[in-house]
Amino acid sequence: MSSASLVLVINCGSSSLKFSVIPRDANTPLLSGLAEKLGLPEASITFKAAAGDKTTALLAEPSHSSALQALFARLDGQGLLSRLCAIGHRVAHGGSDFKQSVLLTAEVIQRIQALSALAPLHNPANLLGIDAAMALLPTVPQVAVFDTAFHQTLPPEAYTYAIPLAYQQQHQVRRYGFHGTSHRFIAAEAVARLQLDPNDHGLLIAHLGNGSSVCAVKNGASVDTSMGMTPLEGLVMGTRCGDLDFGAAAYIARCTGQTLDALYAMLNHDAGLLGLSGLSSDCRTLQEARHNGDPRATLAIDVMVHRLARHLGAHLAALHRFDALIFTGGIGENSALVRELTAQRLAVFGVRLDAAKNAHMVAGQQGVISLPGSPIVAVIPTNEEKMIAQDAAAIAAQRHSMA
Ligand code: ADP
Repeated sequence: MSSASLVLVINCGSSSLKFSVIPRDANTPLLSGLAEKLGLPEASITFKAAAGDKTTALLAEPSHSSALQALFARLDGQGLLSRLCAIGHRVAHGGSDFKQSVLLTAEVIQRIQALSALAPLHNPANLLGIDAAMALLPTVPQVAVFDTAFHQTLPPEAYTYAIPLAYQQQHQVRRYGFHGTSHRFIAAEAVARLQLDPNDHGLLIAHLGNGSSVCAVKNGASVDTSMGMTPLEGLVMGTRCGDLDFGAAAYIARCTGQTLDALYAMLNHDAGLLGLSGLSSDCRTLQEARHNGDPRATLAIDVMVHRLARHLGAHLAALHRFDALIFTGGIGENSALVRELTAQRLAVFGVRLDAAKNAHMVAGQQGVISLPGSPIVAVIPTNEEKMIAQDAAAIAAQRHSMA
C-alpha cells in the first residue's frame, strides 16, 4: 500500500456528520463514526474502530468544523491523517449539472450552492462539511459524489413530468432520482457476481432502507427510477408517503387548513410506515407487531409491498430483457418477509424464490435466492462509502497525474 492510500468519506447533514476512513482498495473502513447534535451544547462525536470498539467524546464546540477537528486529531494520533489521498463528500442533489463525481473547486461549490433551491434541506448541509474540510485540509483533493448523478442517463420520457413544459425549462422541475451511488454500486456488483454480459443486461434494483427506491438498469445505465424531483416520490418509505395523488394533498389542505409547508413536512416525516402503523417507521418493529397480529402493522407492510411490486412491474417496461432483481438496503438485505411477499406478487413474471435460501440471506450475506428457471433474484449488500471512496481516489489520482 502506498503511503497516501486512504480516503475519508463524509456524509454531512445539518446536525450530523457521518464519516469513514477506507483504504482505497478495500471494502471495510479502518475507522468510522458519527458526530451528532451539532448546533446543540451536547454535541458529541463517536468513533468506531475496525475491531468494533466505540468511544464517544463531547465536542469542544457544537460545529461541523469542531467535529472534523476532533476527527483529524484522532486520525493524526493513529498516524492516518498523512495517509489520506482524497476526501469524498456525499452530495444530495447535482441537478442536471453533474453527470458524475467531480473534483471540488470554487466553481463547483458555487454550482452546488445554486442547486440548493432543489434540495434546501440537504445541499446546504452537505456544503457545511465541504467548507469545513476544505478549510482544515486544503492540500488534500476533495471530491463531490452526487446521489442524482447515476440517473442522469434517464431518457426525457422518464424524467419529464406531464405539467406545462415551462416549469422544466424555467425552474428545473423534472425527475432526478436519488440513491444513485447505491444503485451504481449494486449494478456493477450484480454484473460481476452474476456473470452477466456487461453490454447486454437488464436489472431491477430495489434499494429498501429508511428511504427506498427502485431503479431499472439497462446495460449499466439507469433508465428509470422511482424517486422524482425530490426523494418523496415512489415507494412507501419509513416516514415518506411515496406516490400520492396531488388531488388528495390539495383536499387534505382544504379540509384541515394546513399550509403547504406543514403538508410537505407531514408527507415527509409522519407518513409512510410510521403514519400507516401509528407505531414505528422501523421495519423490524413492524414485522414483530405483524407477527403478533397487529392489524395496522400488517397493513403498513402490505401497502409497502404492494407499492414495491407495482413499481417493479412498471420498471420492467423500461428494460429490453430481465436478468435479475436485486434486493439491497437495510430492509432488502435483511427482511426475508418483505422479499417473499414481493416475490409472490411478481409470480406473473416467472419469479419464484427458494424459501430456504431466502430465509438464510440476512445480516450481510449475499447470494441468489431464486429457484432455477426463475429470473434471478439476489441479495447484495450495498456499500455507498466504498463507491464514494473509489470515485474520490480515482479523481484525486487523475489530478495528480495531470499536475
Ligand atoms: P438508511 O436508509 O437510513 O440507510 P438502512 O438501509 O439502514 O436505512 O435501513 C433501515 C431499515 O432496515 C429499517 O426499517 C430497519 O428496520 C430495516 N432492517 C434492518 N434490519 C432488519 C431486519 N433484520 N429485518 C427487517 N428489517 C430490518
